[in-house]
Amino acid sequence: ARTYVVTGSASGIGATTAQILRDRGEKVIGIDLRNADVEADLSTVQGRVDAAARATKLANGTIDAVIACAGISAPVPATISVNYFGVVELLDGLLPALKTSDAPRVAVVSSMASLQPNSPEMVEAALAGDESTAREIAQNLADQDPQIGYLAYPSSKRALSRWVRRASISDDYAGNGIPLNAVAPGTVLTPMTAELLSTPEGAKMVDANVPMPLNYHQPPESIANLLIWLTSVENTHLAGQVIYDDGGADATLRGDDI
Ligand code: NAD
Repeated sequence: ARTYVVTGSASGIGATTAQILRDRGEKVIGIDLRNADVEADLSTVQGRVDAAARATKLANGTIDAVIACAGISAPVPATISVNYFGVVELLDGLLPALKTSDAPRVAVVSSMASLQPNSPEMVEAALAGDESTAREIAQNLADQDPQIGYLAYPSSKRALSRWVRRASISDDYAGNGIPLNAVAPGTVLTPMTAELLSTPEGAKMVDANVPMPLNYHQPPESIANLLIWLTSVENTHLAGQVIYDDGGADATLRGDDI
């Protein structure tokens, strides 16, 4: 069996991914705020450091794959902290344990929203590793108007996708034989979207931003199974990709612009 660390394991895409892996007999170490093997707050530096240390200990020093699903979509500074720094800094802490695996793999969850309007300043601050500036920008936007505050989410995902692009070919990842990729979902039926999709007006707004001509809203399994393949032994050369697993939303919106 392989040892997987799955963040956001208590709900939605992360919970489904962890369950499929466990059903296949793999060892899963879940990280989440509550109801997880490692309970930690990935919005804080200390939470990331603690989570990496405790997961490494539970794995007896060797982690074969990390699947990072934890994320939030609120118009608050915590969104850039969890969705970007909670992935990148946690991975920094888990890298030593990944390096001891025979077939280490990493996959993270970005979003269709990474293509939507965002704050380039917030994206740059995140990629520069400057969490306090990124949070300040998010707070200023939220203070202007909650509608503008929502830019924190697409900004966090744009930064994460771009980080994957860069890091995948670095000494840390390619240099250590670790395929690193992102999956960008469309609209997935999880607790994150349940409230918005519960009214016709909410669903209409979501569908206007994320049109899904193929099979409409997607179950968490549609993302979980791809994350599992990306982190399997079979994936030897797919790296640095942001894979839009989104019912055709990216093809609809970007068209030929690729
Ligand atoms: P979800 O709300 O069901 O699950 C997210 C999990 O992350 C929760 O268990 C939550 O407790 C955990 N989490 C949040 N903040 C945390 C923190 N500070 N520390 C540790 N854990 C924390 O949502 P989901 O739909 O399963 O989302 C999973 C990922 O998919 C997220 O990164 C989300 O942005 C992304 N995504 C979701 C959709 C969608 O339509 N649902 C679309 C695109 C991308």
